[in-house]
Amino acid sequence: MKVYDGKSVFQGVAIGKISVYKKGEQQVKRIKVTDTDAELARYEAAKAKALEQLQGLYDKALHEVGEANAAIFEVHQMMLEDDDYNDSIANMVRTQGVNAEYAVASTCDNFAQMFASMDDDYMKERAADVKDISERVLSILSGNDSASAMMTEPSIIVADDLAPSETVQLNKDMVLSFVTVHGSLNSHTAILARTMAIPALIGTPLPLDDTVDGKLGIVDGTSGKIYVDPDEETLNRMTKRQQEEAEKKSLLQTLKGKENITLDGKKIMLYANIGNIKDLGTVIQNDAGGIGLFRSEFIYLEKDHYPTEEEQFQIYKQVAETMAGKRVIIRTLDIGADKQCDYFEMEHEENPALGYRAIRICLTRPEIFKTQLRALFRASAFGKIAIMYPMITSVKEVKQIKEVVDAVKKELTEQGTPYGDPEQGIMIETPAAVMVSDELAKEVDFFSIGTNDLTQYTLAIDRQNTKLDAFYDSHHPAILRMIAMVVENAHKAGIWTGICGELGADQTLTREFLAMGVDELSVSPGSILPIRKIILETNVEEYKAGK
Ligand code: PEP
Ligand code: MG
Repeated sequence: MKVYDGKSVFQGVAIGKISVYKKGEQQVKRIKVTDTDAELARYEAAKAKALEQLQGLYDKALHEVGEANAAIFEVHQMMLEDDDYNDSIANMVRTQGVNAEYAVASTCDNFAQMFASMDDDYMKERAADVKDISERVLSILSGNDSASAMMTEPSIIVADDLAPSETVQLNKDMVLSFVTVHGSLNSHTAILARTMAIPALIGTPLPLDDTVDGKLGIVDGTSGKIYVDPDEETLNRMTKRQQEEAEKKSLLQTLKGKENITLDGKKIMLYANIGNIKDLGTVIQNDAGGIGLFRSEFIYLEKDHYPTEEEQFQIYKQVAETMAGKRVIIRTLDIGADKQCDYFEMEHEENPALGYRAIRICLTRPEIFKTQLRALFRASAFGKIAIMYPMITSVKEVKQIKEVVDAVKKELTEQGTPYGDPEQGIMIETPAAVMVSDELAKEVDFFSIGTNDLTQYTLAIDRQNTKLDAFYDSHHPAILRMIAMVVENAHKAGIWTGICGELGADQTLTREFLAMGVDELSVSPGSILPIRKIILETNVEEYKAGK
């Protein structure tokens, strides 16, 4: 048995035959041509066919993985029609009298190198796209463009790298998983893999030869490992895990696609909480209606420096695109208290939970706040992003936030940088916010109740202190009454309210939340379907009458 470690793109276990995917390597020769017009006509015909294929791929992806993820094939069409790219090819054929294949391959190298040398990570990744479109044209020119990867049995696909067009062309019924030696978490291929919910690894240094090809393999998307030729103990253990996952999935199958509607017709939104873009696969797999809480501070905690606007923009954009038009609520930085980050160089505090944290940092260090807001506003042009502010205690804070937001929007407008019109809401997680929720509701688009902190501050129980567990009552009437009060005040002002604290996933309270008129529950992805089951089986009016 051999074990290789990679980075997980999507969780799950796959067991099956490994098939090494070899690209149709294009051997391009430089050939002198005399009739350059005819050569250019050959190129134009190949380009037209490539554009047609890309349109077909776009349609296929649109159907299978949604508009945002299919967009890459539109980008490819645009790249193939790009004037600079085409002028370079035509110029080479005309002035050097070379064959179209050679001109395409040379242009591809030049453009790919140019993209790869750029500082911007997003532009760097476009190098792979230029290679992808050029290889397509070369295949057509060489008459070797039959659909690749016609597999005859379900397999684990192992490849050096997979271009988005290759990923989408794979017959999904035959693909158990894919594992690549290269590739980045940000690549469109990774986005597609997550959306397709296929266990997948990238950055896995395994040989693409006979020691792997045709062997039995196990991909463990949780630990990021691939086992080649597994021993019996590993095979038994992973088979058991796979069965457990299959059982969970069967529940998923029956409830997937269903509306979250009670027997008496009350609807509620069921969203997912995430801390990382890696969680997106499970969000989609569990059929979340959106993301109710993206804890953006994890982006800061994972780094040893302040994440730049561009780094953040790429992450928010990726989440928005993957969620393809579904609401994505991104909470601004909630650092401090239990989430400490060295490079923020915060002073020691006696009472960090009651100290300098979250919005208090953002409002006193506007350079950090503005960087994040710029990234969020820019990304909001790529999907349905909503912004949520944590640890609010007063209307005054909300007004201060609005001033910073206005300044950021003004800056973006002046720079001609596009941005969307995201909804803006706040977390209700302090007793003060609950008590002034009637006034706060007039200032924002939505509320989300953070029961973790709300319980800590209301019951005066440090949420980190396990010694106090005996005193901790998550169903304390004070908390439940506060939730009811917030919902009522929100509705009076015509806005909606969700719960994104852990209490939202407490299945013994789901009926109670429905009775209160809570509009949204945001829970860990694995809790979505069990809660949907309760919703589908509940009659709210009967429940209220029987209380
Ligand atoms: C909460 O306080 O309930 C909440 C959702 O935020 P966090 O747990 O990140 O503090
Ligand atoms: Mg909180």
